[in-house]
Amino acid sequence: MSDDHTHPGLQHDVPLPGRAKRAVAIHRLLVSKSIVGPDEVRETIDRAGRRTPADGARVVARAWTDPAFKTRLMDDPRSAVFELGYRLSRDAGLAVVENTDRVHHLVVCTLCSCYPTAMLGQPPDWYKSFAYRQRAVVEPRAVMREFGLHLDEDVAVRVVDSTADLRYLVLPRRPNGSEGMPEAELAELVTRDSMIGVGQARNPA
Ligand code: FE
Repeated sequence: MSDDHTHPGLQHDVPLPGRAKRAVAIHRLLVSKSIVGPDEVRETIDRAGRRTPADGARVVARAWTDPAFKTRLMDDPRSAVFELGYRLSRDAGLAVVENTDRVHHLVVCTLCSCYPTAMLGQPPDWYKSFAYRQRAVVEPRAVMREFGLHLDEDVAVRVVDSTADLRYLVLPRRPNGSEGMPEAELAELVTRDSMIGVGQARNPA
């Protein structure tokens, strides 16, 4: 890198692989054309890096305990999660799909790895794998069984395909026996996998 456009933290003494060079070039173009501000990308990465599945679990637990919040979450996820302090980037929409005893949603990005990072942090490696992306749509029940999730045949399975514009978050079923539990304890039952749809929320111990 020999021009005056610097990237803090970039190792100039290590040759960049092709894809990294392309990413740097695209970033440089976006900044030079004022499509993104110089700090915007870093702030977005930093924000996503602070997120973990515990953040999505907070949202789920609130929806389980507050029916009015749940209605708002289903109708307008962006505004609802903002109530809990989560700001979604302006171009990445969020849709919340609810699992019930009749229908089960499974999330995939068949094209690449689109994922609700603003709610869950970075996706697990398997989510990005070609095998998952392909098999989730072809044989979702078999994939879920491999994750240990055995659904009754009368539960309908809907596979939802995330895109860069619209990412999906599953609202898992509230487990039996969790009645009366405080919101913070309920959040402990909400696993990352249950918010992707390859698992259910944990049963109370
Ligand atoms: Fe993607």
